[in-house]
Amino acid sequence: MELTKFRRRPTCEVHIGRTTIGGTHPIAVQSMTNTDTNDTAASVVQIERIARAGAPIVRLTAQGRREGENLANIVRQLRADGFDTAVVADIHFVPEVASIAARYVDKVRINPGNYRTDHGELEALIEQCRERGVALRIGVNHGSLSKRIFDRWGDTPEGMVAAAMEFLRVCRERSFDQVVVSMKSSNTRVMVAAYRLLVEAMDAEGMHYPIHLGVTEAGNGLEGRVKSAVGIGALLADGIGDTIRVSLTEAPENEVPVAQLLVDHFASRPGEFEVLHPERYSPTAYRRRSHVTVPVVHSEPHEGFRILEATSGNPTAELRAAILSLDDAEADVPVLIRRRYEEPTLEHLAVKAAADLGPLLLDGLADGLWIDAPGYSEETIRDVELMILQAARVRFSRTEYIACPSCGRTLYDIEKTLERIKSRTGHLKNLRIGVMGCIVNGPGEMADADYGYVGAGPGRITLYKGREVVERNIPQEEALDRLIELIKAHGDWIDPPADVR
Ligand code: SF4
Repeated sequence: MELTKFRRRPTCEVHIGRTTIGGTHPIAVQSMTNTDTNDTAASVVQIERIARAGAPIVRLTAQGRREGENLANIVRQLRADGFDTAVVADIHFVPEVASIAARYVDKVRINPGNYRTDHGELEALIEQCRERGVALRIGVNHGSLSKRIFDRWGDTPEGMVAAAMEFLRVCRERSFDQVVVSMKSSNTRVMVAAYRLLVEAMDAEGMHYPIHLGVTEAGNGLEGRVKSAVGIGALLADGIGDTIRVSLTEAPENEVPVAQLLVDHFASRPGEFEVLHPERYSPTAYRRRSHVTVPVVHSEPHEGFRILEATSGNPTAELRAAILSLDDAEADVPVLIRRRYEEPTLEHLAVKAAADLGPLLLDGLADGLWIDAPGYSEETIRDVELMILQAARVRFSRTEYIACPSCGRTLYDIEKTLERIKSRTGHLKNLRIGVMGCIVNGPGEMADADYGYVGAGPGRITLYKGREVVERNIPQEEALDRLIELIKAHGDWIDPPADVR
């Protein structure tokens, strides 16, 4: 199969302060503060740190009128300090706050799952945005669809698309095109399917709004980077995406170089072909091409596999083309994809390999993974390979943490807490543990998790088993032990190996 030139999906330009996304503009990276939005000094310091790291767009949560009003002080101070960073307000639940924020910021993000539209609030916000030159993001989250959408569609990619399209149609009816749209999920397969279906739905209605990409609650460390790279990489490889955020439960400025690495990696690709066949990507239509039930990594036996190695500058397209051109006689032969990397850091290696190879696993085209990387031990490479398989949701070999990046709503030190929870539960198998900053959005966003540890108020934690609250408002000092007791009570505990007890 011949490779055609890399091409980004055509989109209209959207101006966010002094930054323009869409059209022929480079993909912009962005991040979000986790300070209290009422704390002007702390928020400004953090925005400036994020801006120095290279992000031209920074978002802040505005959960109430007070935070909405304080955006004025933050923007004023930022400009006085000489920063022209585009400022975005993140709004949930209270349309009045969106209207306050739109007086001061460059873009307002609303969530169709919890934004009231019954009294013309969306129409009023659009007019307000138009008047001041403010952009709007329709930001759908898998975990917070409205009851009406959920009852009809469930929490499916199709439901996410329906939620976005309702709002986008209102924008289009009012000839407002300064709109960006996102479809985030912590499940890479749901996220990728939702974006692809959204693009198909928008194309069918002649809409060309730019796309904001992100995997929510990706966690931290190398795992968080790999998970984001698989989901975002699959879409960038399709030519989808005009701005991206890599959400990490770390200092927000750490997100920026990872996002930029992804942007640069795809910008330097010599070729790509279009892959917009959403019917193949719906989670229900998903199937691997062979009968291999547990995808392998290179150090495991892989007799009988067809090994396909990528050598070009565009491994995703090269391998995809090679797999799709296998003749019928080989249709059931499992495929192991191989690629050599010479990278200066483990982060570069993991992010690039996840972005190149993860999409092929996610799309059900490959059954195994083989990374060659001189300078790294076999154990290190195997670890990265297993992370990629887990991020692509084809093989689960470790506890998965669905951890939010935190924001102004977080009332405890989530970074340290996540590390403590990982150190006590990281040896468990096939478990998903949600670690979320707030009770307002946390429970919905971690809907996939088996257990949840959610901030309920200053120093207070609420524990969940699945979607059910088990214990409310526990003092934080006791919460980790109680979480472990809960896991034990449900028979999901195994004792850690002696060396990590
Ligand atoms: S779940 Fe985390 S990131 Fe989301 S609103 Fe709550 S604290 Fe902020």
